[in-house]
Amino acid sequence: MRIELDEPDRDWTVEGVYEVRPDLYRIPLPLPSDGLKAVNVYAMRDGDGLVLIDSGWAIDEARAVLDKALGALGHEFADVHRFLITHVHRDHYTLSVRLRREFGNHISLGIGEQPSLRETADPDRPPFFAMSTKLHRCGAVKLAAEVGAQPREHDVSDWEDPDEWLAPPTDVALRTRTLQAVSTPGHTQGHVVFVDEGWDAMFAGDHVLPHITPSIGLEGNVAHSPLRDYLQSLQLVLSLPDRVLLPAHGLVSPSVHTRVDELLAHHAERLDAMAAVVTDGSTAFDVAQRVTWTRRGRNFADLDVFNQCLAICETGAHLDVLTERGRLRRSETDGVRHYRV
Ligand SMILES: [Zn+2]
Repeated sequence: MRIELDEPDRDWTVEGVYEVRPDLYRIPLPLPSDGLKAVNVYAMRDGDGLVLIDSGWAIDEARAVLDKALGALGHEFADVHRFLITHVHRDHYTLSVRLRREFGNHISLGIGEQPSLRETADPDRPPFFAMSTKLHRCGAVKLAAEVGAQPREHDVSDWEDPDEWLAPPTDVALRTRTLQAVSTPGHTQGHVVFVDEGWDAMFAGDHVLPHITPSIGLEGNVAHSPLRDYLQSLQLVLSLPDRVLLPAHGLVSPSVHTRVDELLAHHAERLDAMAAVVTDGSTAFDVAQRVTWTRRGRNFADLDVFNQCLAICETGAHLDVLTERGRLRRSETDGVRHYRV
């Protein structure tokens, strides 16, 4: 593997080491799922070692690619003196935990991820408890029971605590530069972005993605109103200076703000579309079946079960924001939320 310049027209998922700036590299690592093909790890030279933003998923293929990529930079795993993790999703966090066992690296993660991490790490907790709870609340009672009975897929030992819980806003002092950690809850409750003023860049994790709309509140612990949090976090990013977007999935692009504007417009449209089909006593499950999904405008019935679950929870998050804004009223019976205009 050799170092190449990162360019705006390449397939972002192709294995390699792509120089974004001198001393800053984008390293896409493979994912086993068929939805997202890769996750970007960003490596920066810092003194005689490296700092990595996010780590990849704890699978052998990802570890092998990262090993080769660090080799191209003249380094090895033991030279990574910091892992700065944007959020606790497995494709960002778990490889750092595995590597730390062998190489003693230092891991930092936002304090807001603590409840979700503890839920996911608990061997006595049903593995899809949060998803099942939300589906029930959304009125998908049968689906909630089915999801709640699914066997565990993850290895609970991958969710060990970090060495350091970051409490943003806070400066993260590296050996040769300082990053600012900024709290951006929504995608997950403890999601953090890292700003580097010198590079005029934002390591955005999954908060701002160039091609897809980030999922909201897909995590071990149930958030109170994840879409409200997410929209506030988008506004927060707009209030900061515009910077180069370094996303966890997708290519580097020149403006965080341009993409944030698009994401805000998308959610405004979805809020209107969902508000328009609420009838007396509708649940989120009802409403999810009355709107279309994905950029291709697919029907709910044509989605696979996992994406149906996401769609239902996404709808519930939108209806709760409409309720908070006074556009809908909400009541709850047997743990199921019903909405009316
Ligand atoms: Zn994520």
